[in-house]
Amino acid sequence: MLHFSCDVCGKDLPEEAARYVVKMEAFAATNPAEITDDDLDTDHVEEMAQLLNDIENGDRPAPEELPSCSKMRFDLCLGCYRKFAKDPLSRDAATRFDFSEN
Ligand SMILES: [Zn+2]
Repeated sequence: MLHFSCDVCGKDLPEEAARYVVKMEAFAATNPAEITDDDLDTDHVEEMAQLLNDIENGDRPAPEELPSCSKMRFDLCLGCYRKFAKDPLSRDAATRFDFSEN
């Protein structure tokens, strides 16, 4: 049996409960992997070879890979969905603090 819980508040969502699915897709609008003449410089190639060598030998941690495109899917309860629909990026919550003194 499939079991869902709210990805925001963690509340269990039984099959008969209101459940909302939010799908997000994020991707780089520009291509950062574009190779320029500068990148083809011999020094850079050697530098890169050394870097890869270090990573292979465990001398250096591998850089964190940022996916160029990520698709996310969230299950939300009714309460969290209402908040999400009103303010998808939580900008309201982040700025409300600034207006607390009026
Ligand atoms: Zn929730």
